[in-house]
Amino acid sequence: MIRLVDVEKEYDNGTKALNGMNLRIDDGEFVFLVGPSGSGKSTIIKLLTGEERSTQGRVVVNGYNLNNIRSWQIPYMRRTLGVVFQDFRLIEKKTVWGNLEFAMRAVGASPRGMRKRIPYVLDLVGLGDKADVYPNEMSGGEQQRVAIARALVNNPQMIIADEPTGNLDPQRSLEIMTLLERINSLGTTMLVVTHEKELVDRFSKRVVAIKEGVLVSDAEGGYYKV
Ligand code: ADP
Repeated sequence: MIRLVDVEKEYDNGTKALNGMNLRIDDGEFVFLVGPSGSGKSTIIKLLTGEERSTQGRVVVNGYNLNNIRSWQIPYMRRTLGVVFQDFRLIEKKTVWGNLEFAMRAVGASPRGMRKRIPYVLDLVGLGDKADVYPNEMSGGEQQRVAIARALVNNPQMIIADEPTGNLDPQRSLEIMTLLERINSLGTTMLVVTHEKELVDRFSKRVVAIKEGVLVSDAEGGYYKV
C-alpha cells in the first residue's frame, strides 16, 4: 500500500517537483502512473524507495511511515518493494541464476530457499531454461524478464516499475506489460510508470496522471483525458 498525503518536494536547488500530491494505492491494485517529462514521476518513486525525503506531507509505504522511519528500518522497508528499471540493471558478470542468487543472499536467504524460489520465479517469467545464460546473451525483452524475476525473488508486497518498456519494441513491451499484469493477478501490488499511451490504453487499469507535481486525473481504464 501507498499513501501520499499533501506531499511537497522541493530539491536543494529550489525546484518544486511535487506540489501537494495525494495518492492512495491499496494492496493488490495495478496502477499506471503517467505524466509528461518533468512532472514528478521519478520524484514519487524516489520518495517511495526512501532515496529522497518529502519536504512536507506524509509518505507511507507498506506500513512504514517514511517521515519518521529510522535508518535501520529502511532496508526492511525496501524488502517490501521490488523495483524494475528501464535499463534492466543486471549484473553482467553473473548468470541469470547468479543475479537472482545475489538478490536473495542480500536478504540472508538459505541455500535451500534459493534452490526452491529461483526456479519458481524463472518459470513465472518464462525463462525456466535460461538459468545459466549471461545477460549479454539475451534479448532486451528477456533481460527485462530477468529483472522482473529478480524484483520478485524475495516475494515483495509491491513492484514499482519505472518505464519498464522504455528500451523495448512494441511487441516485447506488450509481453512485458502482460507479464506484470499476471504477476499482479497473483497478488503483488503493481505501480508502473510509463509514458506509452498506446500501451496503457490496451489495459483496463487505473491510470493516475500527474502534471507539474500534482494529480490531474485518476480513473479506471485508458489514458487520461485532460
Ligand atoms: P519525471 O520523472 O516525471 O520526468 P522528475 O521527478 O524527474 O520528473 O522531475 C520533476 C522536477 O524536479 C523537474 O523539474 C526536474 O528537473 C526536477 N528534479 C528532479 N530531480 C532533481 C534533483 N535531484 N535536483 C533538482 N531538481 C530535480
